[in-house]
Amino acid sequence: MIFDWQKIKLNSDKLEISKCPVATGLLNVVSSGIMILDMDYKIIHINRFFEWMLKTEQEIIVGTNFKDITGHLDKELIGDLFKKALETKQIAKKINIKHLKPKDMVHLIDMAVMPFLNKHDEVIGFAIIAESSMAKKEFIASDYRMQVFVRYIFDAMNEGATVIDEAGNLEYANQKFFDLLGYDPKELLTQHWSAWVYEYDMEQIEGRKVLKNEQKNNGISVYFLRLVKKNGDLLPVKLLVSKNVDKDFNIKSIGVIADLTEKEKLETDFKEVSYLNSKVLETITTGIITLDSDLTIKSLNRQVEILFKKKLLDVQGMRLVQAFPSLEIFEEWSGWVLRSRKPYQVDRYKLNVPDEDELLFINARINPLADDEGNITGVVCAFDDVTISARLEEKIELSYRKLEMTHSKLTNLLKRQSEFLADVSHELRTPLTIIGGNVEVSLQDKNTTREELIDVMQLVQSEAERMSRMVSDLMTLTKMEAGEIIIKYDVFPLESIAQDIMGRIDYFDKGLKTVSFSRVDRAMVRGDKDKIRALLWNLIENGLKYSGKEGVVEIKMKSSKKDPNNIRLTVEDNGMGIAKQELENIFDRFYRVEKSRARERGGSGLGLSICKSIAEAHRGKIRVKSKVGEGTKFIVDLPIRVG
Ligand code: ADP
Repeated sequence: MIFDWQKIKLNSDKLEISKCPVATGLLNVVSSGIMILDMDYKIIHINRFFEWMLKTEQEIIVGTNFKDITGHLDKELIGDLFKKALETKQIAKKINIKHLKPKDMVHLIDMAVMPFLNKHDEVIGFAIIAESSMAKKEFIASDYRMQVFVRYIFDAMNEGATVIDEAGNLEYANQKFFDLLGYDPKELLTQHWSAWVYEYDMEQIEGRKVLKNEQKNNGISVYFLRLVKKNGDLLPVKLLVSKNVDKDFNIKSIGVIADLTEKEKLETDFKEVSYLNSKVLETITTGIITLDSDLTIKSLNRQVEILFKKKLLDVQGMRLVQAFPSLEIFEEWSGWVLRSRKPYQVDRYKLNVPDEDELLFINARINPLADDEGNITGVVCAFDDVTISARLEEKIELSYRKLEMTHSKLTNLLKRQSEFLADVSHELRTPLTIIGGNVEVSLQDKNTTREELIDVMQLVQSEAERMSRMVSDLMTLTKMEAGEIIIKYDVFPLESIAQDIMGRIDYFDKGLKTVSFSRVDRAMVRGDKDKIRALLWNLIENGLKYSGKEGVVEIKMKSSKKDPNNIRLTVEDNGMGIAKQELENIFDRFYRVEKSRARERGGSGLGLSICKSIAEAHRGKIRVKSKVGEGTKFIVDLPIRVG
């Protein structure tokens, strides 16, 4: 036995070996038995080799008196060794001590007793070092040595580690394992593993409990499962199990348990954050593209995919302008942001959408992206499609303009109305003045002849007729517009209107002017005959009124081919025509192109308004085409045909 140490000197007065796991670990890997005793020979610690030699376990033997376990050893000899060590304060050795093993086998042991001294050189305990060449041989041949190593490694591990024997009972576990489950070692040792595995992670196969969802990895089984802590909480773990066979062919499982609680929490947190992020990015209506510092696409959100009909996978890593040619200007802006490190913003930018001839209006913002150290690593382009609001604004603008137009039209109309009121009073006053003046002169002049009186009376009659015509026109129009005149529907042949009018024209003084129906289709119509006739008569009268001496008024009454319900009436003359800017006004009440000329011709500016009202009462339309100096054509479409 070679042993260079004579004694061990300690700073302390106590032997506190268990407080130093490195020391105990080292003791475990030597192939000599080492035991530490206090002054009363009480065992404080034994190493694994001694455990193996004595076929005992630390937990069992600690606390017992060494003298009680010397068994077949020569007690006197051992007593001498202790005495010597105590007296000399030096190591005391004895080789070849006979150890009578069962079945009378003699076993030779080398033994040394080494004292532990305190600062004052007083002996405070002993270390027994025992060696046996035979035991050593056996030990080396056995896998126990391996187990000792395993245990030493276990103790140094951060993960929980267990040895499960062939029957499935816990043979050994490191402190970390017990800590994870919150048990005291004694409570779990020799218990079946199923006692600390969550029941839903196990199943019964051929009467044996096995773990569910085994995954094999290089001969090691991997399980993700939950263990049950002493307090009932579940502990998510990753368990790696390898099977070992010891020298007696006992199958033992070594399990290493990694606690997944933190990992799971981190993973769920991370998943939640990235899920939230992606959801937020997906849900927002803002299109977002991130670019690297070389202006290649790093990411984009759904909104961009929808707007530009491209997937991230198709464009990732491409330059922005290659991926989205219509965003060329963004590349320029992004370049500026990268260089200047300042954000850029533009509103109402017009953008062409590919494959669609549509213009998009966008509000764009480009911000620099910086890493933790403040280096610019790229840019984020965000843009909002503001097309709808921009279009809406355009529409509002348009409506506003229309409103302005209506407003000016209305002001015009009001102006015209007040003009007309002035006109009406003027028109009424003029004949009244003429009548009044002439009657007065005739009455005052005693010499007025009967012929002269008859002339005055005729003048009175014609002026009175004009007034009554104007008043009746006004009445008709007002009543029609107020809906007081009811259309009297009748079914009659279209031709009958032409006949009526021709009959009337015969009695009408038209000088050299001619009125003719150049076409009258045969058709049955349903409408107010008197009113349709009045409409036509009005237009004919105007044609005569506003044409030269040899005026020609041509009338057509046609049934339409396209629309079987429609009857088209046209009245065309070769008269003075109407200037373009007047055309839109002539159907307005009281409107006359040239007031004095119209008056000369007996016009009041009400005829065309009445025509329009009659056409509309039949759900029809009236329009006019005219050229100054060439003539005028009125077109009336009435959906009145019934056969
Ligand atoms: P009026 O009683 O003054 O003729 P209308 O309402 O019938 O009133 O016509 C309105 C104005 O339209 C007329 O004052 C006239 O200036 C113009 N007008 C109507 N018909 C014709 C036509 N056939 N040729 C030229 N001008 C016309």
